[in-house]
Amino acid sequence: MNKTPTYSFVVPAYNEVANVSALYKRVKTLMDKVNDTWELIFINDGSTDQTLSVLFDICEKDNKVKFIDLSRNFGHQAALSAGLGNAKGNAIISMDCDLQDPPEVIQEMIEKWKQGFHIVYARRRNFRKDSIIKKVGSKIYYRLMGKFTRIDIPKNVGDFRLVDKRVLNEVNQMKEHSRYLRGMVAWTGFKHTFVDYQRPDREKGVSNYTFGKLAKLGMDGVFNFSMLPLRLGFILGFISIISGFGLLLYQIFDVLITGAYYHLYKWLVVILFILMGFMFMLFWVIGEYIGKIYDDVRQRPLYVINEMINFD
Ligand code: UDP
Ligand code: MG
Repeated sequence: MNKTPTYSFVVPAYNEVANVSALYKRVKTLMDKVNDTWELIFINDGSTDQTLSVLFDICEKDNKVKFIDLSRNFGHQAALSAGLGNAKGNAIISMDCDLQDPPEVIQEMIEKWKQGFHIVYARRRNFRKDSIIKKVGSKIYYRLMGKFTRIDIPKNVGDFRLVDKRVLNEVNQMKEHSRYLRGMVAWTGFKHTFVDYQRPDREKGVSNYTFGKLAKLGMDGVFNFSMLPLRLGFILGFISIISGFGLLLYQIFDVLITGAYYHLYKWLVVILFILMGFMFMLFWVIGEYIGKIYDDVRQRPLYVINEMINFD
């Protein structure tokens, strides 16, 4: 099949032997209803179970199903990127392999895409039966992200979304290594909308997102899309200098008015306090430069064009 399909499904799979066939069947039933051309791309992210052989079986029977076998486990975002880099469809739907992303939602997403939205996020209305830590953590995290970053990274969306080919082209051009795809998609700034849904629990197998992987993803989100951590030095320095000067003035007036006596080391302490503030400031200045270097090495496009009128 070399004609470009209308829809590409991109599904990273890491030890999902219990789910791949079911997912394939779901997508197939759905697409039989939608009645359009499609491809389903699995990315085997170094699974240690039988996922690969199941994928071979499915691909043999149906040539709309393809898979990319990575040499080892590179992680969800990298696996997803591999799939997105090879998707040919006009609308690209990325989803998890664990059947937490219901097909009815996909149908709604397709409707929105046909209405002209370039990005359609599936937004979770409920929180899974997660631990209280994960729930509270996720609340705080999104709140902070909202404050820290200038671009609007939508809340409560995972990597279940539909993007237009145009959005995908932009994302594929971003060569940065630490990838936070939902941020990168949002960064392109195309017209977006949401489809709300109740997220069911994982059907089979266990979540592969360990606390460590989740923490890393979260940090990538903050560090890749915000310069605020760098600016911490400014805040600390500012507080330190102001309070240092306050203390110094207090001592001076105390000496002048009440004739108090301060030992030399007390003068040294307040002066050190002020100097420390300048040191924090210096860190901030260095941070700003590092931020600029990071921005440059990342080589993101300078701008994204939505439309051009009256150019030949
Ligand atoms: N996944 C992957 N590589 C990994 C971890 C996960 O490709 O190192 C895939 C996994 O197979 C699934 C998706 O990423 O399709 C989401 O993972 P999971 O369901 O474990 O995360 P959760 O939904 O619990 O956040
Ligand atoms: Mg999952």
